Amino acid sequence: MSVPFLDLTLQYRSIRTEIDEAIQRVVTSQGFVMGPEVQGLEGEIAAYVGVPHAVGVASGTDAILLPLRALDPRPGDEVVIPAFTFFATAGAVWNAGFKPVFCDVDPASFNVTAETLDAAWTARTRAAVPVHLYGQMAPMDEIRALASRRGAFVLEDAAQAIGASQGGAMAGSAGDAGAFSFFPTKNLGGFGDGGIVTTTDEELAEKVAKLRVHGGRQMYHHEMVGTNSRLDALQAAVLRVKLKHLDRWTRLRRRNAALYDEVLAGVEGVRTPVALPQQLHVYNQYTVRVDRRDELRAFLTERGIGNGLYYPLGLHLQACFSSLGGREGDLPNTERLTREVVSLPIFPELTEGQIMEVAESIRSFYAA
Ligand SMILES: *Cc1c(COP(=O)(O)O)cnc(C)c1O
Repeated sequence: MSVPFLDLTLQYRSIRTEIDEAIQRVVTSQGFVMGPEVQGLEGEIAAYVGVPHAVGVASGTDAILLPLRALDPRPGDEVVIPAFTFFATAGAVWNAGFKPVFCDVDPASFNVTAETLDAAWTARTRAAVPVHLYGQMAPMDEIRALASRRGAFVLEDAAQAIGASQGGAMAGSAGDAGAFSFFPTKNLGGFGDGGIVTTTDEELAEKVAKLRVHGGRQMYHHEMVGTNSRLDALQAAVLRVKLKHLDRWTRLRRRNAALYDEVLAGVEGVRTPVALPQQLHVYNQYTVRVDRRDELRAFLTERGIGNGLYYPLGLHLQACFSSLGGREGDLPNTERLTREVVSLPIFPELTEGQIMEVAESIRSFYAA
């Protein structure tokens, strides 16, 4: 039996009538960019996350870029980010006009801590972007305390963590602003690209709302140079339908993760992910650390078991950032994780039989 890494057709089939109606509503209105669907989604996401403001944008990447651009970077200003994350975190920092400074992560949680951020802090640091990797939040209380001591801005990269919480604080409500992605493979995914910025800061929300439409709220009058980062009405309409099902899908992801935890416990060569106390992990990925990772991946792929590698190279070692001077050995935890991690199928519609099949394949690889 083969097991796909992700099958979005199952989700679509389960909510097809609602989705098709929402799409038809937009098509009938012929209002395709921004408008009432986007406003509706912004209100619903703000309420879900528990903040007063949400601003829809064209992608998760722009949801990181625009709040940082709103800080008006001066040349040489720095933003501390983990080296172990998706490239977009760093690309957005760079394109906003900041110098990305890479820090290491805690190998148990895969996330930054106040301590790892602090190790990369300098007098030029204006902001930190903790990433809630795989769906578990970075320790926001200690990160906020560090940043407020230093007068720095905190932007949560919550692209993988919608619905996650920590001691009752939802991802996207625990920093100065939060960035979410609606890329189809995220826990709340659209039918294309999309993203949203959440914040408690009204002035920041205003500024991001201007930057996404060329820097002005009144047509043809521009107070700053922005960009086109509007969200499509079709995406918003689809996302509003899916948001109603999100908590149920999260419960299923967590059920799948609990089952993996149980059946992989004690398999020699495999370390299951650590969900820290106080954390509600939403498992955008279920990522294990293993021995002989590349051999295991080849074995699984051969047997038709989907698997993913997030991420194979630390951002401090990417060719495009060579001018920043990163060297092998600088960030040992990141470098070790890029050799050890593999992500297993975790999507909500996965069956118990499929999870058993994945676990059995892994067990037989290490038994051989
Ligand atoms: C997906 C993702 C992004 C970027 O989102 P896009 O919508 O693809 O632009 C940023 N950061 C992380 C950690 C992500 O997983």
